[in-house]
Amino acid sequence: MYDISAVREDFPILGREVYKRPLVYLDNAATTQKPRCVVEAMTNEYYTVNANVHRGVHYLSGQATDLHEAARERVRRFINARRADEVVFTRGTTESINLVAATWGEAFLQAGDEVLLTVMEHHSDIVPWQLLRERKGIVLKVVPMTDSGELDLEAYGALLSPRTKIVCCAHVSNVLGTVNPVKRMAEMAHAQGALMLVDAAQSVPHFQVDVQELGCDFLAFSGHKVYGPTGIGVLYGREELLEQMPPYQGGGEMIGRVTWEHTTFERPPFRFEAGTPDYVGTHGLAAALDYVDKLGMEQIHAHEQEITRYAMEQMALIPDMHLYGTTAGKDAVVSFNVGNIHPLDLGTLLDRLGIAIRTGHHCAQPLMERCGVEGMARASFALYTTRQEVDALVEGIDRVRKMF
Ligand code: PMP
Repeated sequence: MYDISAVREDFPILGREVYKRPLVYLDNAATTQKPRCVVEAMTNEYYTVNANVHRGVHYLSGQATDLHEAARERVRRFINARRADEVVFTRGTTESINLVAATWGEAFLQAGDEVLLTVMEHHSDIVPWQLLRERKGIVLKVVPMTDSGELDLEAYGALLSPRTKIVCCAHVSNVLGTVNPVKRMAEMAHAQGALMLVDAAQSVPHFQVDVQELGCDFLAFSGHKVYGPTGIGVLYGREELLEQMPPYQGGGEMIGRVTWEHTTFERPPFRFEAGTPDYVGTHGLAAALDYVDKLGMEQIHAHEQEITRYAMEQMALIPDMHLYGTTAGKDAVVSFNVGNIHPLDLGTLLDRLGIAIRTGHHCAQPLMERCGVEGMARASFALYTTRQEVDALVEGIDRVRKMF
């Protein structure tokens, strides 16, 4: 049995008040709160182990290096990569995708080559490819979706061609909650000789993601959205691909030998990790993944699905409610507008009731354009979200609605 009260006890911030009201935190797609064990793991490392990793001969450096590399192995297990060397630590999803565009893209794409994106991509999976387009003259093509927020796989099939070199797709949309069929999309991409990059920022926190099962070539996610610290993220890349890719940034740690004439580079993943890594962050991330696994990903998923279904049902009862993203099995995100109320007004007034939601374009302006709006309000859920919090949101929206 999933004991939500006990789970909430693990997150001290959930007990606080804002404006003298209990906090109702429904902005989890932006970032999740941290359980005590994550903060304690990091504090303990600073208090008892701290030393720079990889370079020192001394005891503490060895211990810090062991923790850092254990975190890499922890991530490998979490996403079921074949080898820990396929796990590159970055600052987050954004940096992971930029790394692929800047290294693999720079080395292997030519003018006229095509990159397929989807209409529901986050800006972090659009802009790096646009920057590359400026430099290389590649062509970006966009997979459309239906009105319910489902990708049009027929259109996707028609867009794929031998010119397609990579397909980049969010596993779960941060606006619509749609769970995209990335496994099927990867098969279709591979049949055309293209690679598949999965932006897993919004899937990894909510259900088991297995890179071998998905058959993807690259996968990116952020630690802070899966109960880990900010500033740490992951790029998974298939070993053969990482081996062929040039470095991302230059500096310490990523080199073999440096002379004035010539420098050789380390093997992956170190080739892509110039400078001192956030080794306390990686340890914190490992603690977060331990926490999630201890609760059980299947239990978390079942709980969040139940909360999402309940929220969709209850919110649909509010007059003048427009819900975006109505696909079956959608995950942990409900985006909406109510009548003519500006989402910013809605968000600001809900905030005064202690309810934290997100408003605006959600870093997905092309998707806003597709939906014919400037912005939306968004409530997003986590493993600690309760039905009572959904009720508070619904009551709050109704109260705001009556003010207009
Ligand atoms: N992709 C998706 C689908 C996201 O939801 C987000 C965060 N909102 C990102 C990428 C970017 O993540 P980060 O800011 O942690 O790099």
